[in-house]
Amino acid sequence: MKPFIYDYTLEQLQDWMKENGEPVFRGGQLFDWLYVKRVTSFEEMTNLPKPLREKLFNEFQFVTLSEITRFESKDGTVKFLFGLHDNHAIETVIMRHSYGNSICVTTQVGCRIGCTFCASTLGGLKRNLTAGEITAQVVVAQQMLDATNERVSSIVIMGSGEPFENYDATMTFLRTMIHEKGLNIGQRHITVSTSGIVPSMYKFAEENTQINLAISIHAPNDVLRSKLMPVNRRFPFEDVIEACRYYLAKTGRRITFEYALIGGVNDQNEHAEELASVLKDMLCHVNLIPVNHVPERRYVRTPRDQIFEFQRILERNNINATIRREQGHDIAAACGQLRAKHMESTTG
Ligand code: SF4
Repeated sequence: MKPFIYDYTLEQLQDWMKENGEPVFRGGQLFDWLYVKRVTSFEEMTNLPKPLREKLFNEFQFVTLSEITRFESKDGTVKFLFGLHDNHAIETVIMRHSYGNSICVTTQVGCRIGCTFCASTLGGLKRNLTAGEITAQVVVAQQMLDATNERVSSIVIMGSGEPFENYDATMTFLRTMIHEKGLNIGQRHITVSTSGIVPSMYKFAEENTQINLAISIHAPNDVLRSKLMPVNRRFPFEDVIEACRYYLAKTGRRITFEYALIGGVNDQNEHAEELASVLKDMLCHVNLIPVNHVPERRYVRTPRDQIFEFQRILERNNINATIRREQGHDIAAACGQLRAKHMESTTG
């Protein structure tokens, strides 16, 4: 199979031009066609000489994300289910906010992390996406928004998969997204979310970027976290917190802790107190996420009053906490739900 053209950073495209006897600036022209003009074929790249266009056509392919379905919610959320060249399916979501359009991308087909409240992990990990397959999700979303002169203003890497287990592809994707000659998405408007893959957290701390880091913490201690997130047995709670402290010392950038509230499991006042004592004096923010109902699990939703009480306890302890506004509730927008349904219908 030919490699995807979106797999390459600008510098790699320039290198390819050099190796193929072309002037380096052709790499910039190609990058511009891909990310600024956003064409979908080499044929349309009219300022490239015809023989070069033919050569590109013979050596590379555009990522083919075939749209299986698209759901549009009343609140403007758009959820895509894309088919890949090998018949796998992935989800991508566009969320509308007052401050702009945010896109949630997927980095793996399925996931092996096994969080007990998540539908994405039900069939395990199928494979990593390439950098180009991640990039293409944003390009396709942007092409949709082009019709109304809107743009993707922020990106969250919170779709299916663990980005830090597909580290190199994720970083290549990020380099392309933030490039000022391409989509030019502000680094501070991008958030990568991990379940706490400790070695990659240390690596990310050294990357010298301004991209935000979010940690799925979901419990205030080691025992409960292991029950909710099997990955905690590989990378224990204390090690994750230590890696967070290292990241903070190294970058000075605030960390977001994602905390899925699950009725009667991790949402009691004592959990909030314990979490507050772990996070005290850390530069951080807690994002509380009332769990979406995953039919395969028996979790119930935290009552509304308790959600606010949990938030109040954190704030009383000087920890900034927000409750994630639900979007696309009417279209199964939670991570992995659409794909799970699709898998059911195709496997009978
Ligand atoms: S929440 Fe994220 S890391 Fe956990 S199983 Fe789902 S996709 Fe994987």
